Parts: sequence; structure tokens; C-alpha cells
Amino acid sequence: MLEKDIAICIRKTDYSETSQIITLLTRSSGKISAIAKGSRREKNKSFGSKIELFSFGEIVFSPPKNSSLATLTEFDQRPVFVGLSRSLYKLNCAMFAAELVHSLTEEYDPHASLFELLYDFLANIQVCNSRVEALVLLISFQLNLLQELGIALVFSHCTNCGYEFSLNWQGAWFCSENNGVVCRDCEAAFMDKVRVDISIIESLGNKDKLKKKKIEALDYIERLLIRHFSFILNKTPRMARFFITD
Ligand SMILES: [Zn+2]
Repeated sequence: MLEKDIAICIRKTDYSETSQIITLLTRSSGKISAIAKGSRREKNKSFGSKIELFSFGEIVFSPPKNSSLATLTEFDQRPVFVGLSRSLYKLNCAMFAAELVHSLTEEYDPHASLFELLYDFLANIQVCNSRVEALVLLISFQLNLLQELGIALVFSHCTNCGYEFSLNWQGAWFCSENNGVVCRDCEAAFMDKVRVDISIIESLGNKDKLKKKKIEALDYIERLLIRHFSFILNKTPRMARFFITD
């Protein structure tokens, strides 16, 4: 049975002289992995050309029967996100977002709002004007992704005792194990934690404050999030190395 959907390509691997294995985030079926037979042939009818990362468009596929791979029979690739390739930094941000979506989702678990989140992120980042803007978009995407997955980070109150966060706090600790911030009275109960400046916690819980941060603070926040994603995934994300600066 053939199915139609709308998809964004989030991973591609050459499979043979003529084929690729593709991972797509689709609007209606969630993440799917598929073989695209003949996609590496020039001017092939089914895909137009080789399938590119971040290609967007309508797909036709047959879901897997015995193997884990679907068969992609058509992909009307639209060059919607070609702006990404004009800046290596933006492309790295997009590839990091795609890697996180790939690592944190299950196949055939429909999640339309996650699809919209990735689409909007890619659309916004390709037109942004600076590294600061790009990093704010990446950080916001990462926070929203965790929220979409039901594992949102909490910065509005201590995740242990519920004490409401304010700028008067005498110290704040980011604790991956507890999914957010812990206060001075509670921090001793947790082994794995990082002491974080109060203003950083404030900006993590407030998008307007985040947008006003300088690049150094944003780099620091990104490192904090990489630490958290590494905790969740039990390994450092591959793309993280492009964001860990000294
Ligand atoms: Zn507390």
C-alpha cells in the first residue's frame, strides 16, 4: 500500500552505486527510514536528482513489511532550505537540530507539531543575519524540542522543592537528572549539577531575555544544553563539537 506524506530529509547515506538510505521527518507518520532505489542516478524520474539533506516536499512511500526500511518511490524535492548552505555556521546549526530530532524520536510515531517546529526552525535560520541570531534560534529550538518530547526543562521554580525562581536566589544549579534548575537548599542532594549564573537561568526561562544575551553567554548556554543532551542520549551528539568553543 502506497502512502503520501510531506517530509523533510534529516539524514542521507549512499547505499549502493545507485541508491540512498534516507531518514525523513514526515508530517503524518513521524520519522521514517527508507531506501530510495535509483536516487543516485542523474535525472531520475522518481526523485528528480540525488536526495539532499533538508530537501522538503511530497513523498510517496510503501511502509516496511519485514525489514525496517520503507521504500521511497517518489520525492518531489523542493529547494526550500537552500539558504542554509550559504553559511557553514547556519548549516551546522541545522545539522545539529536534525541529529537531535533523529536521535530523540522513534519511527512511525506521528508528531505533526514536531514537524512544524523543525520546518519553522530551518525557515528562520536560513534567513537570519548573524551568529547571535542563529544561536538564539538553535537554543530556542532545542528547548522547544524537549518540550515537544514531553521532557521540557524547568527554570520557573526549583525542580526539587518548588521554590519559585527569582533574581534574588542565592545561587542556582542546573541539574540534568532533575530536568532543570535546583535551588541552594536542594543542590546538595544532587551529584551531577553545574552552578549557573542567575541571569543565565532567567534567560533560559524567558525568550525575550535570551534574545538580548551576548554571544559569550549564548555559547555558555549552548554548552549547558549539549551537556544535557549528552546526559539524555548517554553520548555526546556528533554535531556538538562544532559548538564547543574555548
Ligand atoms: Zn529547592
